Amino acid sequence: MDFSFTEEQLMIQDVARRIAQEKIAPSAEHHDQTGEFPLDNIRLLGENGLMGIEVPEAYGGAGMDPVAYVLAMVEVAAADAAHSTIMSVNNSLFCNGILTHGTEAQKQLYVSAIAEGREIGAFALTEPQSGSDATAMRCRAVKQADGSFVVNGKKSWITSGPVAKYIVLFAMTDPDKGARGITAFVIDTARQGFGRGKTEPKLGIRASATCEIEFNDYVVNADEVLGNEGEGFRIAMGVLDAGRIGIASQAIGIARAAYEATIEYVKERKAFGQPIGAFQMTQAKIADMKCKLDAALLLTLRAAWVKGQGQRFSNEAAIAKLTASEAAMWITHQALQIHGGMGYSKEMPIERYFRDAKITEIYEGTSEIQRLVIARHETGLR
Ligand SMILES: Cc1cc2nc3c(=O)[nH]c(=O)nc-3n(C[C@H](O)[C@H](O)[C@H](O)COP(=O)(O)OP(=O)(O)OC[C@H]3O[C@@H](n4cnc5c(N)ncnc54)[C@H](O)[C@@H]3O)c2cc1C
Repeated sequence: MDFSFTEEQLMIQDVARRIAQEKIAPSAEHHDQTGEFPLDNIRLLGENGLMGIEVPEAYGGAGMDPVAYVLAMVEVAAADAAHSTIMSVNNSLFCNGILTHGTEAQKQLYVSAIAEGREIGAFALTEPQSGSDATAMRCRAVKQADGSFVVNGKKSWITSGPVAKYIVLFAMTDPDKGARGITAFVIDTARQGFGRGKTEPKLGIRASATCEIEFNDYVVNADEVLGNEGEGFRIAMGVLDAGRIGIASQAIGIARAAYEATIEYVKERKAFGQPIGAFQMTQAKIADMKCKLDAALLLTLRAAWVKGQGQRFSNEAAIAKLTASEAAMWITHQALQIHGGMGYSKEMPIERYFRDAKITEIYEGTSEIQRLVIARHETGLR
């Protein structure tokens, strides 16, 4: 077993860290307070290969492996979680899905635009009445004689929905077939029949714009079907497996930022004549934070490595996402407690880390759903 990274992996980590520290971190508080979408930074990340890290260079990406993706995501998330949310949707949910299931023409058209940061991508599975149970979706795509489809319905909680040019959409084409009646499509938001609802006000990741989207007799051409008709559910689940490695990395970035700020604080802040880091109760918290952070990182790198080997990685991705998201929540909670009143203040980023961490336990499969995935894999029982 080799725990060292390749030169290429270290290079992309370095590029991500530089942009994160020089461009993203200084404006993180502004983006959190205003909720303004960080378009310039996203374009900069794209120009540097970070919007399509695993996308081959021929389609405008960096042509790197999943481990490189983890390293870069951690750096961006440590500076600002909202940026890493946008980055993860573009990389894992949009580019990865089209690269895996798209035609050559689809890869040329959609992947390059997103991987290079010229456009923003989105992924639309959730609806107002169906989240964890995606098969309960109501958005309908009805096939026409010429092979095109007419789409009607709503999708909710769509990350980057307010600004996306292209969206991977899942709609029911044959309701009698349940999961096997769902088909994936690529949508161009500039076309007639597509509409956007209000941007959601959120607890955290506030600069990652999220909204409801609506389809009213939107026509999808036959060559805009992703994969085959009826394969949509399988495509969505496969794409989410990869996405979970991204969200685990995001959780690690948030947790690392909170941990590092805490290490500095416990050395400076004094109580009862000594640094608060000298108290054994604080030391125990620091040790537990570090153990959880390292465990989350190692499990996430394992999932990425397995994916990079071309093996099945659903279970490893679920284990990584569950462990990392719960570690992030726990670590940011401890960080806030150790900072005392200052942890609760908007003058420090600790309360932002605490708010941002929560989403990692919810999207791309809640912690309960990760536990189901893992337990079903382990027992073979459903
Ligand atoms: C900020 C944000 C961004 C998002 N971005 C996107 C996006 O870009 N695209 C997209 O398609 N979706 C997106 N989502 C939606 C997200 O994936 C869903 O919110 C998530 O999957 C949970 O679905 P739900 O909210 O409908 O909760 P529900 O499915 O209603 O779940 C409610 C609770 O019940 C629990 N539960 C449900 N089923 C079970 C079960 N079988 N066993 C035990 N417990 C269960 C859940 O774990 C949860 O605690 C986003 C959500 C948020 C908040």
